[in-house]
Amino acid sequence: MKTEKRLGGKTEEEMYGVLKLPWIPPEIREDQGEVEAALKNALPELVEEKDIRGDLHVHSDWSDGRASIEEMIKAAKKKGYQYIAFCDHSPAQPVANGLSIERLRKRRKEIVRARKKFPDMSILAGTEVDIRADGSLDYPDEVLAELDFVVASIHSGWKATAEANTKRLLKAISNPWVDVIGHPTGRLIGQRDPYEVDIEEVLKAAAKAKVAMEIDSHPDRLDLKDTHARRAKELGVKLVIDTDAHHVDGFDLMRFGVATARRGWIGPGDVLNTLPPKKFLAALRPRPDGKKRL
Ligand SMILES: [Zn+2]
Ligand SMILES: [Zn+2]
Repeated sequence: MKTEKRLGGKTEEEMYGVLKLPWIPPEIREDQGEVEAALKNALPELVEEKDIRGDLHVHSDWSDGRASIEEMIKAAKKKGYQYIAFCDHSPAQPVANGLSIERLRKRRKEIVRARKKFPDMSILAGTEVDIRADGSLDYPDEVLAELDFVVASIHSGWKATAEANTKRLLKAISNPWVDVIGHPTGRLIGQRDPYEVDIEEVLKAAAKAKVAMEIDSHPDRLDLKDTHARRAKELGVKLVIDTDAHHVDGFDLMRFGVATARRGWIGPGDVLNTLPPKKFLAALRPRPDGKKRL
């Protein structure tokens, strides 16, 4: 039947209204169950950039970053953040100026000084420790115990079989000092495919061990990708969204990680770094020594 009657269309909300549906955010218009969820009024709340309260994976000029600890803290403050974790590389990354144990301890002194200067910022002395080929970590446990926060990542040898890579990640997750697995599938968009890995097994182990999975916001990475992030959420894995910033401008990449999370139906309640500082620290995997983190 032809009619001149206008049904709607000035806004998207109006069009969805004609279809008796609530507005569906563009990021999840992928025919992945969103219409069914909308019909049931069960669309997820999606995380927004303004929900993010801290960046948990940044590098300083102690390793391969291009800004000092202080410059990075100032930039994080400008973003309105309440906490930051310095996760410089470990010795297995000599090209990235990975920190010897001695330099790691020296860096801690600088971080402790910075805490006095920036009392309104929770500054975590962390690491992005390499996961070696056999799944062991590039610092001994007693050194990891000196840190406030541990991201463990694979940076080499990823051409191994899915079985070997999965075993490697499972072993890292089983180390009780590990808080987060960094860029868990290792892809570099347009340059390198993700390594072969049984992501389902890894996510299940992470859920059990209370290890968080990272969404690395760097546009070359976006790792975890959206579908893996959604699966992580379904399995009860907590996520962190961070930038892997190597200079002060790097903080601005957060929006890409947030966009990836949104495509994965991730809400603020699924992301640890939306929590205020004390709650965030309490939500991390309990330390084996029972000590407080800061
Ligand atoms: Zn890395
Ligand atoms: Zn990094």
